[in-house]
Amino acid sequence: MKEKELIKSILLGAHMSVAGGLYTAFERAERVSCTALQIFTKNSNQWNDPLLTPENIEKYRVARNKSKVKAVVSHGSYLINLCGATDKLLDRSRNSFVEEITRCHKLGIGCVVFHPGAHTTMERKEALKLVGESINYAHEKTAGFAVITAVETTAGQGTTIGSNFEEVAEIMSYVHEKNRLGVCIDTCHIFAAGYDITTKRGYDQVMAQFQDVVGIENLKVIHFNDAKKPLGSHIDRHEHIGKGRIGESAFGFILNDEKFDSVPKILETPKGDDGYKMDLENLGLLRSLIKALK
Ligand SMILES: [Zn+2]
Ligand SMILES: [Zn+2]
Repeated sequence: MKEKELIKSILLGAHMSVAGGLYTAFERAERVSCTALQIFTKNSNQWNDPLLTPENIEKYRVARNKSKVKAVVSHGSYLINLCGATDKLLDRSRNSFVEEITRCHKLGIGCVVFHPGAHTTMERKEALKLVGESINYAHEKTAGFAVITAVETTAGQGTTIGSNFEEVAEIMSYVHEKNRLGVCIDTCHIFAAGYDITTKRGYDQVMAQFQDVVGIENLKVIHFNDAKKPLGSHIDRHEHIGKGRIGESAFGFILNDEKFDSVPKILETPKGDDGYKMDLENLGLLRSLIKALK
């Protein structure tokens, strides 16, 4: 395969802003030659849902069809806590999650990545079950939609759950519609949670664990972030690729792992002043790690 074709076949990209309209994310993605894209379909820090008008949807679809981006995923609102300790928070979270899945359905986005939540005053066990039930609620309310939900592994900051593969598996065990459920690994989060992927040996061990506990086939998205804080710190601070505690090798292990060829790999690192410079650098470095391109 020629170099250009190979680059096009790899699902590698970044989270992009939708400022100015959802469709504008494709222009941003193309400027740095993304083949995979993640967006927020609404403001991630606000509860209120903007109306998705037929015009918005049409503009989005036109841009999507013209774009070289092959995989689009959405990231759910940060406010959603699917194990919210109060009825009010839980209801709001569940409804917001249902609305997110519905927006994705309307836009033709096949996957929503979400954080499982924080157990706050609740027992951990109880919270894991509640998240599973919330996912069931959302799946039932959006029955028949071709949208899967993907639980993102967390750094385990504060009382957030889902920072180890066992907790993710436990949440999954409560979900009825397993074919509508997946997992998103965030490299910064798993590293902060204590999974050492900095050496090939460590990477192989972590992935073997993931296979045993969660199942590789359930991995639907990978977030590519280096980590500012050390292994096991439980602090979630993203760093540019190769400039943090994980280092570039780990990203090479993933990029050259055939098992993950069809899994979108998405940067969530700071953009830099012009909005593109750092993505260009990070994506350039990542592409240089792909063995078939050397
Ligand atoms: Zn996330
Ligand atoms: Zn992430």
